[in-house]
Amino acid sequence: MNGRDWYAVLGVPPGADAEKIKKAYRRLALECHPDRHPGDKDAEARFKEIVIAYEALSDPEKRAEYGRMRKVPDTPKPAGQFDEGWEEVFSQIFRTRAGEKIHRNTPEKGRGIDARLDITLEDAATGGNHILPYHRQVLCSRCRGTETDPEGESAECRLCGGAGEVRFRRGSSEVAIPCGACMGEGRIRREQCPECRGEGRIRTEESRQVKVHAAANDGERILFARYGDEGVSDTGDLRVTIHVRPHKIFERSGRYDILLSQPINVLQAVMGGQIIVPTLHGQVKLRIPAGTRDEQVFRLRGKGLSRPAGEAGDQLVTVTLETPTRVGKKLRWLLGEVGRLSGAFSHPLKKRLLDKVKSFLR
Ligand SMILES: [Zn+2]
Ligand SMILES: [Zn+2]
Repeated sequence: MNGRDWYAVLGVPPGADAEKIKKAYRRLALECHPDRHPGDKDAEARFKEIVIAYEALSDPEKRAEYGRMRKVPDTPKPAGQFDEGWEEVFSQIFRTRAGEKIHRNTPEKGRGIDARLDITLEDAATGGNHILPYHRQVLCSRCRGTETDPEGESAECRLCGGAGEVRFRRGSSEVAIPCGACMGEGRIRREQCPECRGEGRIRTEESRQVKVHAAANDGERILFARYGDEGVSDTGDLRVTIHVRPHKIFERSGRYDILLSQPINVLQAVMGGQIIVPTLHGQVKLRIPAGTRDEQVFRLRGKGLSRPAGEAGDQLVTVTLETPTRVGKKLRWLLGEVGRLSGAFSHPLKKRLLDKVKSFLR
């Protein structure tokens, strides 16, 4: 705690007047109040620091001395050190609040929400805006999360006796801490809020516009800071995961390329020719050469997904040879004729195998 800048702790400029310092202290002390963050050690440490900073800056004499020390670099700053006197004050605060804790449904910080946006491969290819409906908890507009009716009866806070703060003696001075039971209000409302039935929050359906960029990947995440559930003092985030649905015919390879399996018949394989191939950009003609093999791959340049800069990805077409299963009488006769002429076809693999067999038998 030694050497901390107390002005920075309270978030005020060194020239701030007493009223401004007091306002900043009350706001921060309530925000980090141990009753709002049960069991949170970080919040507790911050709360202590805020109280000590305020004590150092609220007393004119101590503040003047602190101002003189700040001007001399590299000297230990004596004001507001965490000495034994403080231990006693804080132990009193934490003892006092123990019996008085108020149960609240409404959390301080709202939860984050994970949502999924389903899009097609075509949507992912072009990018664009999508509407995502989702549910979230928002603070009740009537009670703003206090869960009690602001128009109902209120009673004086028993802990602070209506002062809104609790005073503690530290040596010769007195320290005032905002009351954690009434959160500095001095009065406590006991009637349940009729709007949210004491829940503090209401579940609503909302929708957000999600901008998907071109060539978006499956599993990509987009963060909407503070669009999740609302809490008393802070709102959680909305995290959207893009899910690209599997396509009926196309497969994706990497971010930009598309794979397609395209059947061709024996005649097309033997003779070559033009085939019509579907792409994300519509149908295109693909010329395949005579003697095309099964599983041969052809590249359609620029027919994949577009890149933010530079050329678009490619579509890779794998042709699969379809052997006819039902052959009519006439076709059977024709194929027989072809069979008799098959000496005219080149069979490099078959020839190689025959050569090997011959040399083995020799
Ligand atoms: Zn309410
Ligand atoms: Zn109180």
